[in-house]
Amino acid sequence: MKNILLLGATGSIGDSVLNVIKQNSNKLNLVGIAFQSNTTKAISIIEEFAPDYAYCESKANLKIINDYLKKSEGIELFNNKSELQHLLNHRSIDIIISAISGFSGLETTFMAAQSGKIILLANKESIVAAGDIILPTAKKYNTEIIPIDSEHNAIFQCLNSEKNTDDVSKIIITASGGPFLNKKVDDLSGVTKKEALNHPNWKMGSKITIDSATLVNKCLELIEAKYLFDLNEEYFELVVHPQSIIHSIVTYKDGSSICQMSNPDMRVPISHALSLEESRLSLNFSEINFSSLNLTFQEFPKDRLEIANLAREVCNTRGSTGTVFNAANEVAVENFLNDKITFNKIYDVIYRTFDAIPLSKDIDIEAIHEIDNQTRIEAQKVVKSLT
Ligand code: NDP
Ligand code: MG
Repeated sequence: MKNILLLGATGSIGDSVLNVIKQNSNKLNLVGIAFQSNTTKAISIIEEFAPDYAYCESKANLKIINDYLKKSEGIELFNNKSELQHLLNHRSIDIIISAISGFSGLETTFMAAQSGKIILLANKESIVAAGDIILPTAKKYNTEIIPIDSEHNAIFQCLNSEKNTDDVSKIIITASGGPFLNKKVDDLSGVTKKEALNHPNWKMGSKITIDSATLVNKCLELIEAKYLFDLNEEYFELVVHPQSIIHSIVTYKDGSSICQMSNPDMRVPISHALSLEESRLSLNFSEINFSSLNLTFQEFPKDRLEIANLAREVCNTRGSTGTVFNAANEVAVENFLNDKITFNKIYDVIYRTFDAIPLSKDIDIEAIHEIDNQTRIEAQKVVKSLT
C-alpha cells in the first residue's frame, strides 16, 4: 500500500488524483490532504477517503470542517506549518503530491523537497520561480521528483525513466494551441474571460487555463523541463499539436523519436507516476481509437516567439529571472480574470515588469519570496498604467 499526502486536494489535479486512488484502492491510500478555501469539497473528500490529516492555513475553514464533522473520529485538522513539515517527514507518508496552484505551492514544495520522500510534481510554478533551489534541495535530501505535468511525464516515460540524457538530441514539447489556435495575438484584445477559459482539450484550474490560452503555459513548461531534465533550453522545441494526443517526443542521436500518447486526461500521467515504475495501475479511461486518428503538427506561432524567447532567456540567465517571469504572469492573469486588463495586455505586463526588476544572481529561498513580492508590486503598477 502506498500512502499519499495530497497538497491541493480540492483542485482539478486533486480531482484526478482522487479518481486514480479510488480506482486503485487496494494499492493507494490517501493519508492526508491540504487545501485552502473549498471547505465543501474538503468535507466530501474527508467523508469519502477518510484521511488521517487535513491541513489548511485558515483556522476559520478548519472550524467549518470540524463543526460539520462534529469532532470527527480519527482525523487531525491543523493549520500549523511546523506540523505540516512534521507530517511531510513522517514515516506514514510515502508519496507527496504537489498540486497547489501558482507560487502559493512553493513553500510546501520546498518543504517536501527536504522530506527524502517521493514528490509527484504538478506545481510547475515552484520550479519556474525557484528551480535553482528546489532541485539541489531535493538532491541533497535524496527526494525523488516525478513530474505529472503531462508533457514532462511524457518525456520522463520516453526517457524510459532514465536520468541519463546523454543520447538525447532533441525534446519536443507539444502544445495544444489552446482556445485561440490559429488566431493572431493582435486579434485577441476583445476576447472574453469565458472564451479564454474554454480550453478545447483539457479541463483545468482557471490560472493554468489562461496560461494555456496565452501559451505562457508552454513557456513555464520549457523552464520546468530545463530544470527537471537538467538540459540546456536549446534541446527543447515547442510544437503545436492541436489534438493533445502526443504529449511530448524525445529524439535520440541515432534518429529514433519516441513519444508518449494518450487521450488528454490527467489521470494517465498521474497513474503512471503513482505506479512508481512498478507494474502499471489499472485505469478506466477512454483508449485512443487509432483507426480514426488524425494527428497534425504546426509551428509554434511566430507572434508568441517573443514570449517563448523570454522564457529561453530565463533558462539561460537563471538567478531571479524565473521568479520575476512567474510572478509577473500570475499578477497579469489575475488582473485579466478580474476584468482589469484585456487578454493581450497579459504579455505587456510580463514584458514591462520583467524589464523593470533588476537581476539578482545569488538567491536563496528568502530572496525568492522577497523578489516575488517586489515583482507583484511592480506588476500591479504596470497594470495600473495600462488601464
Ligand atoms: P486549481 O485551481 O484547480 O486547484 C488549486 C488547488 O490548490 C486547490 O486545491 C486550492 O485549494 C489549493 N490551494 C491554493 N492555494 C493554497 C494554499 N495557500 N494552501 C493550500 N492549498 C492551496 O489548480 P489545478 O489543479 O488546475 O493546478 C494545480 C497545479 O498543477 C498548478 O500549479 C498547475 O500549473 C499544475 N498543473 C495542472 C494541470 C491540470 O490539468 N489542472 C496540468 C498540469 C499542471 P482550494 O480550492 O480549497 O482553495
Ligand atoms: Mg502541461
